[in-house]
Amino acid sequence: MNFVSTRGTAAPCNLSTAIAAGLAPDGGLYVPTTLPRLGVSDFDGCASLPAIAVRLLQPFFAGDALAPELAAICNEAFDFPAPLRALATPQDHVLELFHGPTAAFKDFGARFLAACLSRLQRGKANELTIVVATSGDTGAAVAAAFHGRPGLRVAVLYPDGRVSPRQAHQLGCFGDNIHTYNVSGSFDDCQRLVKQALNDAALQTQVPLSSANSISLGRLLPQMSYYASASLQHWRAHGRALDFVIPTGNLGNAFAAILARALGLPLGRIVLATNANDVLPQFFAGADYAPRASVATLANAMDVGAPSNVERLRWLYPDDAQLRAAFRATAVDDEAIRDTIARRWRNHGEIHCPHTATAVRVLEDLRRDGADGDWCVVSTAHPAKFESIVEPLIGRAVEVPPALAELLRRPAQAEPLAADYAAFAQRLREL
Ligand SMILES: *Cc1c(COP(=O)(O)O)cnc(C)c1O
Repeated sequence: MNFVSTRGTAAPCNLSTAIAAGLAPDGGLYVPTTLPRLGVSDFDGCASLPAIAVRLLQPFFAGDALAPELAAICNEAFDFPAPLRALATPQDHVLELFHGPTAAFKDFGARFLAACLSRLQRGKANELTIVVATSGDTGAAVAAAFHGRPGLRVAVLYPDGRVSPRQAHQLGCFGDNIHTYNVSGSFDDCQRLVKQALNDAALQTQVPLSSANSISLGRLLPQMSYYASASLQHWRAHGRALDFVIPTGNLGNAFAAILARALGLPLGRIVLATNANDVLPQFFAGADYAPRASVATLANAMDVGAPSNVERLRWLYPDDAQLRAAFRATAVDDEAIRDTIARRWRNHGEIHCPHTATAVRVLEDLRRDGADGDWCVVSTAHPAKFESIVEPLIGRAVEVPPALAELLRRPAQAEPLAADYAAFAQRLREL
């Protein structure tokens, strides 16, 4: 299969090229040239998450140099579960995506991307440096996924003092081929440094660079796997499609669900939950699409004012009316997030992270308005990652999952860096 850019002006390329490049040369996002059709019966005999992933991703890997490695890549990347559990309220479920090394859904995509890139790097003379700017979760997932991989190293930039102490610890606890910089500046400064490096052709003749942000095809494609797995599990048990509410910032995770449904998997309705950054809810309610600066909220991994994957959404649904008919999106403000976290604990004994709480709230409102069917909220992170928000609301400590506890036991350190491009480029040359 070949891949083209959403902007339509880059030459078609194969999967390996698209994964290695991240962004298409014309600035667009890579999408497949055709959509394979996959029905429920195509997955007969596939029970485990890696087995379902292999079946699902085979058409996208067909003809590529990575095709013979697909099973090994899936076994390596999907070595932790994505359980579908019942919530306390009837016919409501939760898909838990936080059982990976850094306790957030980004572990799935980051580990798959790392498994692909490490194979593409085999036999190459030069090391490849992945540069990533993070406001918390992305950097930790990428660092964990690339740690110790030969031929690859990572430079992670985070804004000093603007990530939680636990997040800072996760970013700085790897060492070896992971280089962590705490930048005296904002997240936007970090992103500017990374973009400038990725556009610096002279630097890249000395230090080959690549990115690992959420628009990468190597993160998007594998994320379809847990939607396939959960929807098939539900279909096999009940003969009905499962409806989803997905917490959304950049639409990376949600677009994977949308694409999985477009391929033919038994996902029913898809509803997007945002925080107070309500560009998508406004658009789906009929307003023009109007990206703007983000505002800070309790669900900070979703503080996005210009969701990049909207380009892919518009590729799949070129007609706005059709697009608006296919999805709903609802915004949840901080007060409602707090209320949902406290109330679900008090009334049902459930503990949700602030991101997951936006989806739980949207589902509660749908039920109140009479929605029928079997619904699933997507839990994007373990509440222990956001303990400073969750613990005061529920009045008790949140138990830290073992993988995260293991990271928090390691010593951590980050190198201070001025928000200055020349200084950053020099560090990259010296790695
Ligand atoms: C990144 C992240 C999100 C948002 O995911 P997108 O793919 O950007 O929509 C939601 N919740 C958590 C915990 C995250 O880390």
